[in-house]
Amino acid sequence: MKATSIVEFVRDTYKTDEFIPLHAPTFNGNEKAYVTETIDSTFVSSVGKFVDDFERKIEAYTGTAKAVATVNGTAALHAALYMADVQRGDLVITQALTFVATCNALYHMGAKPIFVDVSPVSLGLCPKAVEAFLSEHAEITEAGCIHKHTGKRIKAVVPMHTFGHPVELDELVAVCLKWDLVLVEDAAESLGSFYKGKHTGTIGDVSAVSFNGNKIITTGGGGMVLCKTQELGVRTKHVTTTAKVPHPYEFLHDEPGFNYRMPNLNAALGCAQIEVIEQYLVQKRSLAHQYMSLFEGTDIKYVVEPKYAKSNYWLNAIICPDVELREQLLQETNAAGVMTRPIWKLMHRLPMFENAMCGDLTQSEFLEAHLINLPSTPIETK
Ligand SMILES: *Cc1c(COP(=O)(O)O)cnc(C)c1O
Repeated sequence: MKATSIVEFVRDTYKTDEFIPLHAPTFNGNEKAYVTETIDSTFVSSVGKFVDDFERKIEAYTGTAKAVATVNGTAALHAALYMADVQRGDLVITQALTFVATCNALYHMGAKPIFVDVSPVSLGLCPKAVEAFLSEHAEITEAGCIHKHTGKRIKAVVPMHTFGHPVELDELVAVCLKWDLVLVEDAAESLGSFYKGKHTGTIGDVSAVSFNGNKIITTGGGGMVLCKTQELGVRTKHVTTTAKVPHPYEFLHDEPGFNYRMPNLNAALGCAQIEVIEQYLVQKRSLAHQYMSLFEGTDIKYVVEPKYAKSNYWLNAIICPDVELREQLLQETNAAGVMTRPIWKLMHRLPMFENAMCGDLTQSEFLEAHLINLPSTPIETK
């Protein structure tokens, strides 16, 4: 496969001679009307009806018990870990192959990541790798799951649904039950992705979604905490909105809170975007099928959704047979104005996580060296 075939296909698809980004937002619905409405009403900030509307819409769409809007996905993840009762000094198992935000949220909780491998099926956290790490290094005590060598508590498992492809959740739930761990899903990339008919982010106890400008729908910047129970949802809303006790005029705050609430202005954009998510999903699936045909019978493997899942196909990804071809394709496509990108550097290679504990990372290292993301903006295709 040559870079010119990819460039030609992408240009033909997007019908432009200009620079083609990896993922750009599109606004064809009620975005302007709703945003204008917030400006006309002056309720652009922390109070306004769109925040509630957007939360109820996300609840209806995902089936979660309660959704709580936040300023961004990282804040949603931070709040989710806080609600999961991750404490300073705890260890948390996550994948080495993820976007840095997953680990930043852990870091700011005072927790330390343990990096284990991803599954070749989902590109997300591998349940077998988690079990292998735990059975070698952990034991269950009265204080919970303890890392034998350091004596530290392992509190949670944070899988990330890479590029929107759902991880093997049943198996991860079983591992978490066996080892007394909380499951927190980083569903930042997977709005619109379903695991055996259930929306991602609704299986873990508490999860995070992102509405950053490059995600499947956007609020400019924004996120959402998905809570498995009403009770957890009510507490999350309280904690993420300065923990203020309702009162007509007094300032009473009953615990240390976050100011993580999403402004009404952003929520207005989100309400318009969630109305058309179905259309984006259809367009993305169709684009994914066209990429599949392009790479069929070549030395390049297109990453398809796992059999048990319906993916949102947020970012299209291919796996090159060798590092040299990967480098060549990255260089030539980018030089031709078609944005392509390698996958993230593995987390344990970053300076702030270089001393983190790691399991075997064979699959993560393979993907780190061979994967490329391709332009994925949803578009009307043939
Ligand atoms: C986008 C993303 C986030 C964070 O979202 P922001 O809204 O940008 O803070 C977290 N985790 C993953 C895996 C992401 O892709």
